Amino acid sequence: MVYPGGVTALAGVSLDVAAGELVAIVGPSGSGKSTLLNIIGTLDRPTSGTVHIAGQDVATLADRRLSALRAREIGFVFQQFHLADGLSALDNVAAGLLYAGVPRRQRRDHAMRALARVGLAHRTGHRPRQLSGGEKQRVAIARALANRPSLVLADEPTGALDTATGQSVLRLLRRLNEEGTTIVLITHDRDIAAALPRRVEIRDGRLVRDEAGPATWPPAHAMAADR
Ligand code: ADP
Repeated sequence: MVYPGGVTALAGVSLDVAAGELVAIVGPSGSGKSTLLNIIGTLDRPTSGTVHIAGQDVATLADRRLSALRAREIGFVFQQFHLADGLSALDNVAAGLLYAGVPRRQRRDHAMRALARVGLAHRTGHRPRQLSGGEKQRVAIARALANRPSLVLADEPTGALDTATGQSVLRLLRRLNEEGTTIVLITHDRDIAAALPRRVEIRDGRLVRDEAGPATWPPAHAMAADR
């Protein structure tokens, strides 16, 4: 991937993620992690190379069909939540379903169900500023899940949270993965990465390591913190 201006952000990276996996992308700042996630998520088109989502080569799709595939198959979670301040938790989640073409009546129902899945059934009317950081990220995760995507991509989902809150958001992602959602997440946190079943390491735009971990979960110190 070469950005306009000539920065080669990724080169020669080949990555296969199977349905049901939970993968951590790790590496130093500026190494190309977000670029990789954006390419997987079809937000950016690579300057060379191909991306297949659910077996489909996305380069063959016109923009409109690509947007539809993205809305149907992929949920996004960001470090800074990206919630609309003026909307309730419910409306934030429901708004995400607009682009997926879900009829208005069903948007509310789907949003309610997604908020219940992340443990926020009691916060549906709250605005983002009335929520804690962890709750905001749960709303954002609910929004990502509302259309039951096959793949959730999370760019530093715990990066703006304190350690304990980050661990609880991670436990949530883990549970969602156990329930069948494929998840790829970027993390700077070594403990988080070490606890996940697969780690992909990016350095200077290259994939330098792809290892399966003996995922002991939760890590010992997190268990201690939970007590
Ligand atoms: P990471 O997520 O690992 O911090 P990024 O994928 O954000 O790394 O960035 C990789 C490289 O590409 C960096 O050198 C960054 O400055 C550059 N880069 C990222 N986005 C753009 C862009 N939109 N235009 C030009 N260069 C970019």
